Amino acid sequence: MGAAMCVRLETKSWVWCVVALICTSAVYFGGAAATAVDWTKVVVAEVNGDSGGDETKNEDTQRPDFEEQEPVEEPENSQSPAPEEKPAQLIDPRPNVPTNDPGVGGRKVIALTFDDGPSPATTPRLLDILRGREAKATFFVLGTMAQRSPDILRREVAEGHEIASHTPYHNQLTKLSFAQVRAEAVEMDRIFTEILGMRPPFTRPPYGSQNATVGQALGQPMVLWSIDPRDWADRNANVVCTRVVNAAKDGAIILVHDIHASTVDAVPCIIDSLRARGYEFLTVSELAKVRGVTMVNGGVYYNF
Ligand code: ZN
Repeated sequence: MGAAMCVRLETKSWVWCVVALICTSAVYFGGAAATAVDWTKVVVAEVNGDSGGDETKNEDTQRPDFEEQEPVEEPENSQSPAPEEKPAQLIDPRPNVPTNDPGVGGRKVIALTFDDGPSPATTPRLLDILRGREAKATFFVLGTMAQRSPDILRREVAEGHEIASHTPYHNQLTKLSFAQVRAEAVEMDRIFTEILGMRPPFTRPPYGSQNATVGQALGQPMVLWSIDPRDWADRNANVVCTRVVNAAKDGAIILVHDIHASTVDAVPCIIDSLRARGYEFLTVSELAKVRGVTMVNGGVYYNF
């Protein structure tokens, strides 16, 4: 049916229509049950101008300052990075670990990470849950959200969680110039220093979209993820919990969003189920430390 829609259009529009249909189909068929992410493939896709494994693209109405949207490729945009753009260095100290891996020395570790907050509607309840279960997490906060809820940020730190940058405005960094990315990093340094008296230790680029130039402009390590239950697409706590638990493996980084009530609802199940399987919840920095990894500026970490 979709192809028939294209036939009526003139030649140039017809080509773009077919491209759009193929992309739409790929998103639809590829997105049914995402779990583990193969960053080696995603990074290659980024370099080739494909938006790759996107993180959040929803119509959330709780975040008035930015519209989550799929980073659509714009071939005629002269601001796009040059095609010779180099990929950043992917660092995985334990590649290809199976889900039944017993862990290093019998110790299984995993990091729960929350993006796009803090939200006064959902994050305090999440913090109550984490405190009640004595589980530590890492929050990749947005500058705009942090400025609106500085007390939640301070509470996250006071309760032992790690706070890092998800940039001020959720822009796709590979679409920005070096100077623009640098300005965003400086802006986050300012926001963090104002609220927490420290600079962010690392950044999670929105949509996981990064390359060597972005890493250089940020001047920080970049932290991605290895498990994506697509909690923004399926607002169902049982679905999110099941996807995380099924994909869990030693050293993994789990990506979810603390701005969704359904995700907060999934957290007790995630923590209890994974602890029953022997997992310890660590912050990203703790995960790096137990693996003996010193994170370097511009490096990309998605698994430890
Ligand atoms: Zn995000």
